[in-house]
Amino acid sequence: MKCVVCKSGETRRGTTTVTFERDGLTLVMKEVPAEICMNCGEDYVDEAVARDILALAEKMAKTGSKIEVIKYGSGSVVFSSPSTSGKFEVYVDKSGRYRFRLKASNGKIIAVSEPYNTKTACLNGIDSVKKNAANAIVKQMKITS
Ligand SMILES: [Zn+2]
Repeated sequence: MKCVVCKSGETRRGTTTVTFERDGLTLVMKEVPAEICMNCGEDYVDEAVARDILALAEKMAKTGSKIEVIKYGSGSVVFSSPSTSGKFEVYVDKSGRYRFRLKASNGKIIAVSEPYNTKTACLNGIDSVKKNAANAIVKQMKITS
């Protein structure tokens, strides 16, 4: 199909990451099937997929979960509520700068932060993610695959 955003690109079947935020909860869904514009990168998710995302968000609201990062169609929740079940680790990257990463209880690295010049800034970054987990984690950290 033709992209309605840039009006010149053609879309192709692929997968994308959808971030859904509502009422303080964040749902990050990876490997979502979508039509992706080869020109501007805009993604178009099927209505059925959008419904699934909404249904999951409602489930989250009921269970009081603030953040979920899941693979589309897997049905399994990789992690929830990073401040309680996840573990933050500070480390020094190859360029000598500080980063933190979030590990799930099974030891899998879920997300990696942007680099910080000082350890203090890095620790502040963790604090901010803990306080605003729902939004911050998506904006400040790169979700790993
Ligand atoms: Zn486009």
